[in-house]
Amino acid sequence: MSNHINDKGYYGEFGGAFIPEMLYQNVEELRQNYLKVMADDSFKRDFNKLLKDYVGRPSPLYFAKRLSEKYNTKIYLKREDLNHTGAHKINNTIGQILMAKHLGKSRIIAETGAGQHGVATATVCALTGLECIVYMGEVDIARQAPNVARMKMLGAEVRPALSGSRTLKDATNEAIRDWINNPTNTHYIIGSVVGPHPYPDMVARFQSVISEEIKWQLKEQEDTDTPDYLIACVGGGSNAAGAYFHYLDDNEVNLIAVEAAGLGIYSGESAATSALGEVGIIHGSKTLLMQSKDGQITEPYSISAGLDYPGVGPLHAHLYTSGRAEFISITDDEAMKAGLELCQLEGIIPAIETAHALAVFKQKDFKPTDICVVSLSGRGDKDLETYINYFKTDNGK
Ligand SMILES: *Cc1c(COP(=O)(O)O)cnc(C)c1O
Repeated sequence: MSNHINDKGYYGEFGGAFIPEMLYQNVEELRQNYLKVMADDSFKRDFNKLLKDYVGRPSPLYFAKRLSEKYNTKIYLKREDLNHTGAHKINNTIGQILMAKHLGKSRIIAETGAGQHGVATATVCALTGLECIVYMGEVDIARQAPNVARMKMLGAEVRPALSGSRTLKDATNEAIRDWINNPTNTHYIIGSVVGPHPYPDMVARFQSVISEEIKWQLKEQEDTDTPDYLIACVGGGSNAAGAYFHYLDDNEVNLIAVEAAGLGIYSGESAATSALGEVGIIHGSKTLLMQSKDGQITEPYSISAGLDYPGVGPLHAHLYTSGRAEFISITDDEAMKAGLELCQLEGIIPAIETAHALAVFKQKDFKPTDICVVSLSGRGDKDLETYINYFKTDNGK
């Protein structure tokens, strides 16, 4: 079965667009135009120029010598942490802001939980001069004060979501309500490979620059453009989708998706969607999600805000059920140790999300000749306080 989206917006049985009637017009406009716009020469020129001059691409593919020696295999790090704003999310927000301009939109809305996607969206709105409104749960606003301050400095309006648990899903509801009320001038920037079709495919294509670069960068350093393993952490799944994209049909490449097991898969405090998820609908898409017996979405938990999501995108649900990708769950403790190890062996402080991907080397044996490429999705500056508080009590041992 194909690993690519079909013309109905499905990967296997997952995907689609399960949206209220009142959103149909907005989503349909995007669906009819996104591939056309992305194929347009002036769009491609603008996108590639901003990726180069503003984001700083190509991001290096770095051979991690000391980490490789420690695990007796060849480990390359795809350095998305070196992008402007410190993670892969900017690849997508640049693409979507240009898409919005091509579709004649003047106003941007987004929702954010930890604030990373909100900052990436506020950044590209400042870059292009479009109005920016970011919905965020009142609880998250209090928890993520530095990112709220960043968004405001960048000129965005941060609107609190005051209903429900006042976290991400409530912010999402507010954003959807806004979009329904502003169908003609507003584009809704979604931050991962989630949401109704065409978002998962559009976001995967914007992030696919990651695997496009891995191909020629690996070829420069090895005899081949084909790694044995591609390893990435999965929240919604966009950095993984970008790292896998040009290798999806190349079955020699083993795909490893790393989820957050929090305090343990069966602890009740986890975000290990593949292990715990059932088929359901979240954010307009049919996928795997964590839910109770009566279909209520379970509150996820992870020490990393970016992996703290109760579902995965439909591509990843498909890669899991078809067996194309291997899913591994990593606990908070395992991730934090792997993060500290990268600091001390390579001088790179990774985002805690990314540290989950790095923890795979303790869980699984690789051959000395294996070429393993890890998507280093982001840098750890934003997580410094979490690292400090964690290692105060545990000392990293
Ligand atoms: C947001 C984020 C993630 C998780 O998002 P995906 O869509 O799964 O990639 C992972 N790493 C970092 C650094 C992030 O900021």
